[in-house]
Amino acid sequence: MSDKYKFELTEADLPKAWYNINPDMPVDPAKTAWNAVLHPGTLEPVTPDFLSVLFPMRFIGEAMSLERWVEIPEPVREIYKLWRPSPLHRAHRLEKALDTPAHIYYKYEGVSPVGSHKSNTAIAQAFYAKEEGVKGFTTETGAGQWGSAMSMACSFFNLECHVYMVKVSYNQKPYRRIIMENFGATVTPSPSDKTEYGRKVLAENPNSPGSLGIAISEGVEAAVASNGKYKYCLGSVLGPVLMHQTVIGLEALKQFDMAGEYPDMVIACAGGGSNFAGFTFPFIHKNLTEGQKTRVIAVEPAACPSLTKGKYTFDYGDTARMAPVVKMHTLGHGFMPDGIHAGGLRYHGMAPHVSALVDSGHIEAIALDQLETFEGARMFAQAEGIVPAPESSHAVRAAINEAVKCKEEGKKKVIAFNLSGHGLFDLGAYDEYLKGNLKSTSGYSETKVEEAMKDLPQVAL
Ligand SMILES: *Cc1c(COP(=O)(O)O)cnc(C)c1O
Repeated sequence: MSDKYKFELTEADLPKAWYNINPDMPVDPAKTAWNAVLHPGTLEPVTPDFLSVLFPMRFIGEAMSLERWVEIPEPVREIYKLWRPSPLHRAHRLEKALDTPAHIYYKYEGVSPVGSHKSNTAIAQAFYAKEEGVKGFTTETGAGQWGSAMSMACSFFNLECHVYMVKVSYNQKPYRRIIMENFGATVTPSPSDKTEYGRKVLAENPNSPGSLGIAISEGVEAAVASNGKYKYCLGSVLGPVLMHQTVIGLEALKQFDMAGEYPDMVIACAGGGSNFAGFTFPFIHKNLTEGQKTRVIAVEPAACPSLTKGKYTFDYGDTARMAPVVKMHTLGHGFMPDGIHAGGLRYHGMAPHVSALVDSGHIEAIALDQLETFEGARMFAQAEGIVPAPESSHAVRAAINEAVKCKEEGKKKVIAFNLSGHGLFDLGAYDEYLKGNLKSTSGYSETKVEEAMKDLPQVAL
């Protein structure tokens, strides 16, 4: 036990390997198909050839790897040192404000130069592309966090970066665009007339605000059409991305040693599942191999509740059905969630690993309304000083709710959550909240989901 506020590691403590959960997945792949990746056209298992058009070979190798520990390449570790190890904070002031016997800890990923955990995988993916000698990347971004991380990573490795940015965000969030352009990236509002799919969407609806699914389709099409000049990169969902993020949880384990405590529960928000997996998989590893009984809680928005309301089945990764088909919790690839401010949590699906572990009961999932999450974020800011990203606010609120429960039950539990990013580029959303303009979003549209579910691929498995 300690009255310290921050548990800080040195650069020498930076993990040398990521944790790959593949060999430890406690579910039978033959029965659950959590590791099946199907071609969107044939619905047959994809070949490495198909994937190699999109992704660097080393990345594909990681997706299939059964090595528990995968070495972090030295050039990637060197860049990590710009901001890693990130601090683990004990939220003493929040505990006092809540008058709770619980101990609340948070791992803070907002210290990365672009303000979120996404740089942890962006750096690795850019390094792999550089190794293969490609010219650069095409990618998509929703609210702009992934695009910012990838633009920074590409500038470090002298790669081109072409970002398709969901049009509403492009118009509403110019600061993220400016960050990307300052790193040398080109940013195109999506849907655009640069791709066949974008032109098709625009022909049907010239005023389309865009969606993550559409932007992914444009990024994928642009990479495929480049004949190997560009690779495509994704900031979440895929196994290697989750693995790259485990540097977060591995550091946290060492920091809990310093604190002399171990969490009773670990909490993170889940959009595609990467910061969640990165923070919690090393703790799940301890649950599986060392008999720890830490509760693992994924928090999603009530407006896009793939884990709590979606179906665990095969679906396309994107709207245009060009990305691979995987088994995951999904609301349907055509599902268009309401325009909530946690843009990073608006994806229709969820990482297959996370989905399988929710299905098998190793992970709990809950959904929160955006009014509650902003309220929690404000309580947190007033106690701890950090303005959380609207996405991270879901984890913040869930942790506060658990701490309040501890008070009611008189229990002294150790609660840990991942603060995946800061919200300093999301102040427009806070402004809306403070002015009382935000609406409750608990009423996600069941009819819209039913509609989107009609379109699932018919997989014979
Ligand atoms: C992108 C983003 C998320 C959601 O993505 P995951 O892959 O689910 O982690 C959460 N928090 C922040 C700050 C983000 O930028």
